[in-house]
Amino acid sequence: MKRREFLKIAVMGAIGWGIAPEVMAQNIMMSARVSLPGEFDDNIKDYLHKMEHFDEPQTGDVRIDVGEYRVFESVVMRLRRLQQLVGHGNFQKLSFDRGIRIARRYSEVGEFSRVETGFMEKIFYTDASLYGFFGQKTMHNLTDSVRVKDVVRIPYTGNYLYRGAPLKTFEEIRRQVGEDVRLTSGIRGIMKQFLLFLNKAYRHGGNLSLASRSIAPPGYSFHANGDFDVGQAGLGADNFTGRFTTTKVYKRLNDLGYLTLRYPQKNLLGVRFEPWHIKVVA
Ligand SMILES: [Zn+2]
Repeated sequence: MKRREFLKIAVMGAIGWGIAPEVMAQNIMMSARVSLPGEFDDNIKDYLHKMEHFDEPQTGDVRIDVGEYRVFESVVMRLRRLQQLVGHGNFQKLSFDRGIRIARRYSEVGEFSRVETGFMEKIFYTDASLYGFFGQKTMHNLTDSVRVKDVVRIPYTGNYLYRGAPLKTFEEIRRQVGEDVRLTSGIRGIMKQFLLFLNKAYRHGGNLSLASRSIAPPGYSFHANGDFDVGQAGLGADNFTGRFTTTKVYKRLNDLGYLTLRYPQKNLLGVRFEPWHIKVVA
C-alpha cells in the first residue's frame, strides 16, 4: 500500500474509533518505519520488543471505544452462546448470514441487534493496519462463506480441511511425522474468527491491537482458505505457545522443511512468531 493511502485510511479509522491524534501519529510513524524492512533502527528494535511481548499492552494500542464497550461485550457473549448451541465443529464453518439466522431462531442465543451487527460490520471493514496488523486480507465480504461441499472433517479433532492441497499436505505430514502430530485448527469461517479475535480482546480489556498480535482480525485469517495449525499430541493448549518448539513434532516438521512460515520470527506484519502454522495458500 502506498504510504499516502495508508495515512488516509489510518486517519479516517482514528476518527471512527475516537483515538487521540497524538497516539495515532505515533502509530503512523511506527507503521511507516515498519514498512521499510531495510531500516533496522531503533524503531524496528522497539517493534520487535513489542512483538516479543505480544500478550502485554503496549503504548499506542488501539482499544474498543468506551461508548461501544457494552455492544462489544454483548457480541462476545452472543457469539459464545452461538458456538455452544451449534457445537465447536459446526461453528468452525458457520457463515455470518447463517449465524445471524440461527441466533434469531433460538432464544438461548437471541437475535443479534442492529447495533451489534453494525459493530461487527465495522470491525470487519476496518483496515487492520490501524491496529498494527499488516497481514493480507483473505476474505473481502462479511458474508463470504466456507465452501462446505469442499470440506472434509478430520476424525477426532473437531476440525475441517479443504480437499486438495490442504488435505494432501496434512496427510503427507501425518505420514512423515507419525501419529504424534495433531491437527489443532483447520478451516475457520468468519464467525469463528470473530469469536477468537473478540474473545482475545475481551480478555484484555478491549485491546484490539493486543488481540491482533496473535489472532488475525476477521477477514485476515488464512485459515479461511487453506492454512492450518498442527501440534504435538498431549501438549494441549501449550501447542500454541513457545513450548511447541521443544517438541519432537516441531523438530520433525522443521527438518522436513514444512516450516516455511506464514508468520516467521521477526516478521514485520505485526504478528507474533507462529511455528505451528502450516502455510498452504501461496
Ligand atoms: Zn494458524
